[in-house]
Order: sequence, then structure tokens, then C-alpha cells
Amino acid sequence: MGEVPAPRKSRRDNRKGPMIQSTVKLTPFGAVNARVNRASDLLGIKENYRRLLTTCWREVKVSLPFTDDKGEMNVYEGYRVQHNGVRGPYKGGVRFHPEVDLDEVKALASLMTWKCAIVNIPFGGAKGGINVDPSKLSERELQSLSRRFMMSVKQMVGPYKDIMAPDVGTNPKVMGWMMDAYHQVHGYSPAIVTGKPVTLGGSPDRLDATGLGVAMITRRILEERKEFLSGKSVVLQGFGNVGSFAALHLHRMSAKVVAVGDVTGVVRDANGIDVEKLMAHFEAKRTLAGFNEGEFSSREQLDVLTLPCDILVPAALGHVIHSGNMDKIKARYIIEGANGPVTPEADEYLNKQGIIVVPDILANAGGVVGSYFEWAQNIQVHSWERTTTKLELDKFMSAALAGVSSAAKKFNINYREAAFVVGVDRVYQAAVARGH
Ligand code: GLU
Repeated sequence: MGEVPAPRKSRRDNRKGPMIQSTVKLTPFGAVNARVNRASDLLGIKENYRRLLTTCWREVKVSLPFTDDKGEMNVYEGYRVQHNGVRGPYKGGVRFHPEVDLDEVKALASLMTWKCAIVNIPFGGAKGGINVDPSKLSERELQSLSRRFMMSVKQMVGPYKDIMAPDVGTNPKVMGWMMDAYHQVHGYSPAIVTGKPVTLGGSPDRLDATGLGVAMITRRILEERKEFLSGKSVVLQGFGNVGSFAALHLHRMSAKVVAVGDVTGVVRDANGIDVEKLMAHFEAKRTLAGFNEGEFSSREQLDVLTLPCDILVPAALGHVIHSGNMDKIKARYIIEGANGPVTPEADEYLNKQGIIVVPDILANAGGVVGSYFEWAQNIQVHSWERTTTKLELDKFMSAALAGVSSAAKKFNINYREAAFVVGVDRVYQAAVARGH
């Protein structure tokens, strides 16, 4: 289960310098702010506005006592951070993971601000999380904790205030419980969460929107560079909600998925994996092992990230491409399905090698665009045709790439820097227009 994964933490903080210093370890929020400062340099944004862009509007930590199945009382920590709302209601997922902490939630909330601005949807950025391992909870416990979290933040969220969605470790079921908890206080309001079950007003196209968006961006990036996706070799790391649907749609767009790896191992087939069959296998067995086509290796035997390919899609954890393995990467393109899979140091190195890195805030933004469509349908009390949703997603993703590419040309910078320039500029312009 789960949505776009987030970066792991590093310990030291240095968020003042505008340039990315490869020798200095930044915290996740410090690293995002270094990017924002770099974009602000290029855009000539003054110090007072930079403070606005590099500060979270509201950071809330709640204590979540709940009773487990044995009747014991447990306490978890929950967070909801609203980073910047000048362009619209706050928007962002809720993450259930044992390593969730405030700095990481702030970083992810900030990334949501830039992501929503890049794809030009009328939302600000937010993120939430609980420091829990959901795989260790029973369904009843998970439901109880999800409801408790919503009740603890119910005054700060709302369909026009702050809208939650799935992220790592959460899924439509969790959204359904949270929506119900909110209803008990505020009455019928399906637009309070996106990525909810279809039967509760969820969009049937939300589940695969992130993976489909990754595939659409990959196709467009190649076209922009006078290449075609057909027959290109693709390697994916991660086979959760993002990786599996990215693989499926890339396969349907006639790319050749030659390897897929996750915590359970690596499946390889030089002739191309039948992704639909692999998805059916994974659905039934919850592991890649035992798939009766291609060749299987354990994670210890084979690092999927280092396999030769045209396109590498890291769609699992953050910080997986780092100084220790960056020189072993053999892909020509890296499309960031996960949030923050490439460390700043590795990013600098890969750029020097001429490897094209398409950043998370552009590559995986299809998820929040799908959420925007779901929210808009809930607000309209109306369902769109499924073909409309797919066409609209392609329009939003293509327009986002066009904006980023033109900034890349104008400033002679890479896609990541250009994505931040587009996002930061849109948020800055909205702040100025509001009279801030
Ligand atoms: N959690 C997803 C992300 O990081 C989606 C957020 C949303 O749909 O609000 O982009």
C-alpha cells in the first residue's frame, strides 16, 4: 500500500546557504530550502519573500493515545504541517511510517507547495504523518488510529482549507475512515480527503494517477529530446502503488520493462517483462519471488539500480541513489517516481555525467493532479467520464513539462532547478498579488 515515498533523514542541518554544498549534510527540509534559495537567486527574489517561501505556515504535533487489541494503551505522535497556502487550500498526503518526524514532514509539505504550483492546480502544500509501522497493526487498530488522527486535527482541515490524501503506508481504506470521522463532526463533506474508496466518491482514476503521470512524463521527455519510448529499456525500483502502475503504463506505451526490484528481490527479463502478469502475481503473493517468467535474484545478489538501461525509475524509498552508488548508475534517464530518491551530492554527479534526472516534483505530480480531479468532482457533485480524466491528466503533465523545459532553456539549468524556478515563481507571484 501507499503512495509516493519520502526521503530518509540525514542528521545535520544547514539551511542558510543558497547553493547546494555537496560536502554538507542537509536535513530533508534544509535540502528543499537550499533548492528554493537557488531558484530565488535566479528569480531575484528578495530576502523577506524568501523567508515566506522557506517557512511553514503552521506546524502541528499531536499526541495520539489509542487502545490496542490487547487492551493496552499506546501513544503515537502525529503531525500536520501546512507549508504555504497562497495559491489555494493546503493539499497533501498522510504518511504512516516509524521514521516520520517533524523535519521530514516539513520537507514533504514544502515539496507539495512546489509540486502543486508546477502542475498549476489551485492548491498550497501540506503533509501529515504518524510515527507508526502500519504493518504491525491489526485492521481495527489501524482504523482507530486513523480516526483519532483526524479528530485531533479536525479544526485545521476542511474541503476548502486542507485536504488529505494517501502517502507512504496509507491507502484508500484509511482515507475512508478519516472521511467518516470528519463527517461525524462536520457533516457530509467527501472533498475532505482524496484517494478515498470509489464507493465513497473517490475517483476510479486516482489509484494509478501517479504511475500513469510518471509514464506520461517519461514519454514526453523523450519526445522533447527527439527520442521515442517504444522499445526503450526500463528498470524500476519499487513495485508499490507508484512503481507498479508506472511499470504497467510504460509497458502499455511499448517500452520494454527489463527489470523490476523491491524488498522481496529482482525480476529480470531482457526480452521485456509482461507487467500485467507480474502485477497479478504480486497481488496474489505479495512478493516478486516465484514469478514463473524471467529470472529472479535476491536483493543481496543484485542491486536493481545499477542495471544497464535507458530509463531508471526509482519508485521506492528516498535517498537510494547516493555518493556510495552514484558511479554505478548506467541509465541515461532517471525519472523520480519516489520523493527525493537522489541525494543532492549524487544529483550533482549525475548531472555532470550527462544523465537526465527528471525531479520528483514534476515526475510524480500526476498523483496530486488526480487528487485535484477527485476534489473538483466532489465539489461539483458530479462524475467525469474516465476518458476525460486521462486526457486532462496528460494535458496537465504536458503543460507542466513545457513550463519546466522553457525555464531550463531560459536560465540554462537542469530540469530540477527549472522545476523549482517554475514552482517558486508561481507561489511568489501569488504572494505578491495577495499583497503580502
Ligand atoms: N502523497 C502524494 C504526493 O506526495 C499525493 C498527495 C495528494 O494527492 O494530495 O504527491
